[in-house]
Amino acid sequence: MRTLLAVGAAAVTVALPLATGQSASADAAAVALANPNGEAMYLVQEPGMRTGHLATLLEANGFDLAGHGDSALGVGVLGDRTTPARARALGLTAKYMAPQYHPVDPSFQANADTYYGGYHTSAGHERHNAAVASAHPTLVRKHTIGQSWKKTQGQGGHDIEAVCITKITSGDCELTNTNKKPKFTLMSQIHSRELASGELSYMFMDQLVNNYGKDSEVTALLDSTEVWVIPIANPDGVDVVSSNSSRPVLQRKNLHENGCSGTQIGTDLNRNSDYHWDKNQGGKCSETYPGTGPDSEPETQGIESFLKRIYRDTKPDADNTPASKDTTGVFLTVHAYAQLNIFPYGWTNNNAPNHSDLKAIADAMGAHNRYQVVHGDGGLNYFAPGATDDWIYGRLGVPGYTIEIGPGTGNCAGFTPQYSCMQSFWKLNYPAYMAAAKAAAKPYK
Ligand SMILES: [Zn+2]
Repeated sequence: MRTLLAVGAAAVTVALPLATGQSASADAAAVALANPNGEAMYLVQEPGMRTGHLATLLEANGFDLAGHGDSALGVGVLGDRTTPARARALGLTAKYMAPQYHPVDPSFQANADTYYGGYHTSAGHERHNAAVASAHPTLVRKHTIGQSWKKTQGQGGHDIEAVCITKITSGDCELTNTNKKPKFTLMSQIHSRELASGELSYMFMDQLVNNYGKDSEVTALLDSTEVWVIPIANPDGVDVVSSNSSRPVLQRKNLHENGCSGTQIGTDLNRNSDYHWDKNQGGKCSETYPGTGPDSEPETQGIESFLKRIYRDTKPDADNTPASKDTTGVFLTVHAYAQLNIFPYGWTNNNAPNHSDLKAIADAMGAHNRYQVVHGDGGLNYFAPGATDDWIYGRLGVPGYTIEIGPGTGNCAGFTPQYSCMQSFWKLNYPAYMAAAKAAAKPYK
């Protein structure tokens, strides 16, 4: 999640998975077993809600905000059986939206590469990156672009990997910005508990390499454009998430030790970038802790220096100075959930200088995934300073986007949808990714 939670105006119903031959009550029992403490998403509401007040109040009282709400509806939180009473104590109400966890299909056999019905672990993604590169030498180059915090400490950890996919000709897929082909970068799971995001990158890579020369749209894209994928931007975090195969651990931040316990450990990598970094995003144990300073985290450093190497800088740093018209490239970071296409800026409600062109690409994605197109804070006085999408636009002039995958209610709601939801997410978002990738040639008309 980045900024907003658009829950939609539909009535709140508790939808339980109904597999063939199973009764609703058997399913309810299975859901209860998967959520022994009543782990669920709630929509917290405030009578006569004041703009910008509710999210701040909840955060100050230690709630885990799943999103920062639609001003008309409320704020989504991750909670359990105690949540309604905690909300009542603050004069608020908490509506049950959907269970946090879903029973894993009994036919699913987890191996070292997968968990929770089929999602890929960090190691699974690394094996996949290597396999794709070795099976398609004319289309794929794999690069190491940085290290996770644990790796920098000699505590295991991971490299951060980026995979470049194009019809490779001389000079392609190098870590330079002098190559002629425009570059589209897709990054996922910087917030490790947002499961759908990394899985869609895995599917996107397979879709491209398996359909070059067969599908005209894929072929045209790879003939003209470098597609870079960073499937797992926070691999240490994903190790924690996947450490429980039937009930993923809700680790959002990296694993930088800071005296906090459990999933409160770490820095929010999507608040750590050095463009409008804001120390007031939360204390050490908060889910939005921005770190000790801008770019304090090795993951952020690796990702930013990679992006600086492959993209030209076409924008003066002043917030109100536009990027030049000859800018090429698009950057897309994928989060969950809320069904949103978000364009810059996210640190302020002021329009970015390239506003209409930036919005046009978000609209093109929205025409496919049907998610709402937004920027700024959605009227809540709750911003996301130090996020990667603002950083790449603010620092380099490359249009940066966030897609928030998935709904707030039903079986596919929340951070940990059942794996079968990937099919509907893919159907909606593959064409949205392609629209963003095609815009890389000339994003500013
Ligand atoms: Zn997120």
